[in-house]
Amino acid sequence: MDLRFSEEYEAYRSEVKAFLADNWPLEGEEAKLTLTEQQARFRARAIGAGYLARAILRKYGGSEQPADVLKGLIIRQEFGKAQAPLDPAGNGPTMLVPTLLEHGTEEQKERIIPPTMKGELVFCQGYSEPGSGSDLASVQTRAELVGDEWVINGQKTWTSGAKQADMIFMLCRSEPDAPKHAGISYFMVDMRQPGVDVRPLKQMSGDSHFNEVFFDDARTTTDNLVGKRGEGWIVSRSTLKHERNTVGNAQGVAMLFERLVMLAKNVDLEGRPAIQDATVRERLGEIEGYVRSHEYSGYRQLTCDARRQDPGPVVTMNKLVGTNIGKMMGKLGLDLVGDGGLSAPASRWGGDPLVSGSWVTQFMGSHAQAIAGGTSNIQRNIIGERALGLPRDWAAQSSK
Ligand SMILES: Cc1cc2nc3c(=O)[nH]c(=O)nc-3n(C[C@H](O)[C@H](O)[C@H](O)COP(=O)(O)OP(=O)(O)OC[C@H]3O[C@@H](n4cnc5c(N)ncnc54)[C@H](O)[C@@H]3O)c2cc1C
Repeated sequence: MDLRFSEEYEAYRSEVKAFLADNWPLEGEEAKLTLTEQQARFRARAIGAGYLARAILRKYGGSEQPADVLKGLIIRQEFGKAQAPLDPAGNGPTMLVPTLLEHGTEEQKERIIPPTMKGELVFCQGYSEPGSGSDLASVQTRAELVGDEWVINGQKTWTSGAKQADMIFMLCRSEPDAPKHAGISYFMVDMRQPGVDVRPLKQMSGDSHFNEVFFDDARTTTDNLVGKRGEGWIVSRSTLKHERNTVGNAQGVAMLFERLVMLAKNVDLEGRPAIQDATVRERLGEIEGYVRSHEYSGYRQLTCDARRQDPGPVVTMNKLVGTNIGKMMGKLGLDLVGDGGLSAPASRWGGDPLVSGSWVTQFMGSHAQAIAGGTSNIQRNIIGERALGLPRDWAAQSSK
């Protein structure tokens, strides 16, 4: 099997590389701008050149390029290597925007997509509640139509980036008498209003990346209902599809493996580089086997996408496997930095692999990745039921 890209695509890769060499990082006077401003300028140029927001029409602020999965992959690969910014902050560009493209009204698309893609309007995702995570359809936060406004009461939790967000897209129970899945609506709600209280949660890394969000008579207008009233469950499915696609991708896993090998070459174990130790080599070899299989499984998903076929449970399998490998690598990295990991503060995600803290972050973060966007157990249930044809999960059946 020849897995190389064709000449046409290699030429495209050279074009992307040349664009990056000319445009990122910014230089001269522009390098003095804040990082957020630099990223916004770069993104505007990348959209102008047709590299970002490709699936979005120009009238909504995108670059309106013909769908080409391989070009999309090349862009992600080269932007990743150059550490150039892809999407603006928040969950808006990756989750809400595709959902609006599928279910939003024309007015919503024109009002919300352009500022979200520019990073001027930042969204967080309000799905999980204290009693509703895996069993998301049991959400209890209520939305009641009073006059021409929806009034919202309840609590969300684990809301990433809620402190920084201008708005939240969220699931609320709007039809209390309807069956579980049919009683939910999908809203966009202003976070900067008196009825919204954001309380940061302290994580084991010391960060407060996510929050509890309390709604006490918060309000949103009827034009912020996405899809029809009571059909929020269907609308939310498209958001989750995009979330699963973004977690645990094969390229990120392969890059992390390279960093792990770099660490093993540079850290000492009993007076010699750790990579010369038989046990370390065995563990690295085992991980590399998973990394390569995951890459090929990624190609299966890519082939389906390129042929516009539904990849089915492959997406779920890739999420599960990708996060499992992330855990194995985090554990080996932490073992290699040894006692240094006990005192090192967690550092920036994806930071210098030779800094102990980056493996503390990877180790802790790998556990979070196995929960975010649907836990590993839930992925196993989906694979069991949809790919292997096993009977439905008893707990899920009895909570319908
Ligand atoms: C880093 C991170 C960021 C997040 N960001 C957001 C965000 O921005 N917005 C948001 O809304 N949510 C967010 N979440 C929350 C995330 O979606 C939930 O944590 C996740 O859906 C699991 O829900 P839960 O925490 O309530 O756990 P539970 O659903 O209570 O699960 C607890 C345990 O039981 C297992 N379990 C549950 N049901 C079953 C079953 N049927 N079969 C087998 N095992 C089962 C689970 O696998 C898990 O091990 C984030 C989570 C993380 C880790």
